[in-house]
Order: sequence, then C-alpha cells, then structure tokens
Amino acid sequence: MRIRDIFAEKTVFSFEIFPPKKTSPLEIIYKTLDDLRDLKPDFISVTFGAGGSGNGHLACDVASKIKENGITPVLHLPCINYTREEISAVLEELKTRGIENILALRGDINPDVPPKKDFMYASDLISYIRSQGEFDIAGACYPECHPEAASLDEDILNLKKKVMAGADHLITQLFFDNDIFYRFREKVTAAGIDVPIEAGIMPVVNKKQIERMVTKCGASLPQKFVKIMQKYENNPDALRDAGIAYAADQIIDLAASGVDGIHLYTMNNAYVARRISEAVAGVIGV
Ligand code: FAD
Repeated sequence: MRIRDIFAEKTVFSFEIFPPKKTSPLEIIYKTLDDLRDLKPDFISVTFGAGGSGNGHLACDVASKIKENGITPVLHLPCINYTREEISAVLEELKTRGIENILALRGDINPDVPPKKDFMYASDLISYIRSQGEFDIAGACYPECHPEAASLDEDILNLKKKVMAGADHLITQLFFDNDIFYRFREKVTAAGIDVPIEAGIMPVVNKKQIERMVTKCGASLPQKFVKIMQKYENNPDALRDAGIAYAADQIIDLAASGVDGIHLYTMNNAYVARRISEAVAGVIGV
C-alpha cells in the first residue's frame, strides 16, 4: 500500500523504529515488531545509517520483516555518503522485496566522512528515485528550522524544492511545543506546499533521553515540559508515565487541530507505543 493513499482516508498514525546494533541479534527487533503489530499502525518506518555504520542491509531486512507482519514498511534512505550506483542497488533490492515506500533523506554530514558527490540534497535523491520506478516518497521537514539553514523562510523555500522534486508527503523532526508546529504549517501552506505533513512526536520516558534532548536535539523545551522532567527525572516510573501523558496530550491537541498524521518515534519501546496508542485511539481512529 502506498502511504499517500492512506492520507485521503484518515489521520495517519505511524511508528518509527531503528535496527539493532550490529553486535545485537536481529531477533530483538522482531520481538518488538510482534508487539507493535497488534497496535495496527498505518506504517512502520525503519531508520538507515547515513554512512559508515553499514546498517543498510539490516534496515532492508527489518523492512521486509515489517511487511511479513502485515504492516506497510517505509525504508529511510539517506544519500549523502552513497554513490548513484549504491542507491540504485538499494532501489533494486526494494523492488525485489516488494517495498514501495521510501523516506528520502540527505543524512547528516559527518566531518570524518567526505560526502560522495552524486546527491547533495534530499531533493536530488527524490528526483532520482522518481526516475527509477513507482515509489511513494516521503521527505523530512523541520518546524524549528534545519540547523544548517540561515532562516526558517530559506529552509521552507528548500522544502518546496523537495516537494517539487516529487515528495508525496512530509514527516517533521520531533517537537515538544505544538504552537511551533502550527506556525510552521501556516508558513508552509503560504509557500504553496500542499502535501500532507505528519507531526513527529517523541515520548521522553527516561533520564538518558532528557540528557540527549538538552544537549543535542535543539528542540525548544516548553516550561510545562521542563517542569515535568525536572520533577520526575529521578523517579523512573513517574517519568515514564509523565512522558507518555505529555506525548498523548500533544497528539490529542494536534488531532483536534486537523493534523494529517502522527509519526511516533518509538525508540523501539513497544510498551510506550502501546500506552500512547491506547490513550489516543478514539481521536486518531486506530
Ligand atoms: P535536505 O532536505 O537536503 O536539507 C539539508 C539542508 O540543506 C537544509 O538546511 C536545507 O535547507 C538545505 N537545502 C535543501 N535543499 C537545498 C537546495 N536545493 N539548495 C540549497 N540548500 C538546500 N538521518 C539518517 O542518517 N538516517 C535516518 O534514518 C534518518 N531519519 C530521519 C527521519 C526524520 C523524520 C527526520 C526529520 C530526519 C531523519 N534523519 C535521518 C536526519 C536527516 O538526515 C538530517 O536532519 C539531515 O541533516 C538533513 O536531511 P534532509 O533530508 O532534511 O536534507
């Protein structure tokens, strides 16, 4: 099933997972997938290392497993460290495996890995995928601006290039303040971008995640979020419950505001995905 067709029918509800580390057995993720299957997401996407980590085959294997579980898979595909031949090989593999949905990405630039020159931006990859067959193509977008862009307006102009190259729909970077998403959506619409946008929601349920949020993620942390995290950072059960409730609250507000879809960054935690799915089932129509 192509993802673009689902948006016409309902608010899309999807999950993101990542392949296990090379040193861990693949079965770990298969158990997670068993648990996620019952939640009936519209699709599950699987991340793919931008280069160096060599997890491409693993990601394709996990995508195939998602399909075997009766769920539509989406393979993330970053291009900056891959040649045209390498990307072609992945596309051929996807065709063989019957996987027709791709999240086309540039990937982060690693200062230690000189980029390959065939694809400089996600839009280059999207044009290429378009020329290679009937894939459904998603792109990434950034309500708080991509860190390399000079301004949000410039980033949205570049986003328009991505959509004109053939992106069927978009998935946002995670955010914790819905108002930032609403302002972004208005600007994107004003720029003439009219493809569906799924909101990326990350439940923050443990202390390690909080530390990562504060040092790395760059997302604005609203006062309400900071207060909850400070209060419960040393109480794992309370933090988990508060993080789940915060994400569910965000999703309900987004649904009430007519969001096209919710993409849940599950961090491979099926328990948390289940609790959130149950909390929002009525409003999302799971
Ligand atoms: P692009 O759309 O190419 O944009 C990158 C920068 O270039 C932006 O600043 C943009 O404004 C600018 N730009 C774009 N087009 C042009 C142009 N034509 N001319 C000039 N400037 C331009 N990374 C992974 O490695 N693996 C994953 O699995 C993965 N999954 C992700 C999933 C989601 C939902 C999101 C939001 C991100 C994900 N990423 C992943 C991270 C992503 O690769 C990085 O954020 C990366 O830095 C940008 O990728 P992009 O596809 O948005 O790039």
